[in-house]
Amino acid sequence: MIVDLRSDTVTKPSAGMLEAMMLARVGDDYYGEDLSVNELEEYAANLFGKEAAVFCPSGTMTNQIAIKLLCKPHEELICDRHAHIYLYEAGGIASNAMVSVKLIEGDRGRISAQQVRESINDSTSISSPLTTLVSVENTMNKGGGSIYSFQQMEEIAEVCREHGLNYHLDGARIFNAIAETGDDFRRVGQLFNTISICLSKSLGAPVGSLLIGNTDDIQQGRRLRKALGGQWRQAGYLAEAGLYALKNNTALLQEDHRRAKVLGEEVAKLPVVSNVMEVETNVVIFTLEDSVAPNSFSKKLEEQDVLAKPFGSHEVRFVTHLDFNDEMLDKTVSVLRELSL
Ligand SMILES: *Cc1c(COP(=O)(O)O)cnc(C)c1O
Repeated sequence: MIVDLRSDTVTKPSAGMLEAMMLARVGDDYYGEDLSVNELEEYAANLFGKEAAVFCPSGTMTNQIAIKLLCKPHEELICDRHAHIYLYEAGGIASNAMVSVKLIEGDRGRISAQQVRESINDSTSISSPLTTLVSVENTMNKGGGSIYSFQQMEEIAEVCREHGLNYHLDGARIFNAIAETGDDFRRVGQLFNTISICLSKSLGAPVGSLLIGNTDDIQQGRRLRKALGGQWRQAGYLAEAGLYALKNNTALLQEDHRRAKVLGEEVAKLPVVSNVMEVETNVVIFTLEDSVAPNSFSKKLEEQDVLAKPFGSHEVRFVTHLDFNDEMLDKTVSVLRELSL
């Protein structure tokens, strides 16, 4: 038995999901004729109380479309310095949107309204890039799956309103956040111009993300998707996987979180671990003593068929997901307990 904790993207479609996929009502999505894609887009938009959504191959694409949509060349966006849009999208902010970035050091990736306010450039200065966009990530990957409270997101929305800034949510793991907070999806939706969600993270779909927003923005987003090469055809097979994921798998996320907490408690007991970030959802990030490199730690685990991801110069990450069950949890716990380093 191989236990794969490298990411929540490693899941494979379940039998039920595959069955749903086979029943897709496909057509050429370029002509708006893929009924499954249309249904998914309507479902996702409606869930967040927004007008429209566009289905895309990846969360990188939905984020990149949003940034290009909401921030013009020479303008500036504000985000945490560990944001996925900045760290892990291959510099797309620079090449796709040609915008400048103001990086903030948040609390485990969560920036505050006060920090945002202090980071807005003087709009009367012709030297400074004009600040036009704020992007937050919930949950925050690099922050160990940390959650923004509704109030924190709302306070930033208030600052955006006061200063005429656009507001984007990188909600690749928003379902993990809401599984814990119980926030109302529509109230969250109302705070943002655009929301990016991933179906291929812990929801278990093989491929797919959606950008959700108002009709005009999403229409323009479709043009940008085309420009980025993301216009697809009979994507309904994937859309059905996404619909299945949204309808069946959000209720299972708390189980992932419970298992992640157990892993967090176990790694905290290891002498080679100097710190574990508080486990709030399905991400467990821990820091190793200088004497052990993340690579050698993960190699040791790999010898026992447990896969983990080195995550920085001293950190290792585990992510729990739909295909990580209690039996695998037990195995991982015993491997950790017997680890010799
Ligand atoms: C995974 C992820 C994305 C999108 O990644 P893709 O692999 O391009 O789908 C965006 N933001 C965050 C926070 C993520 O974890």
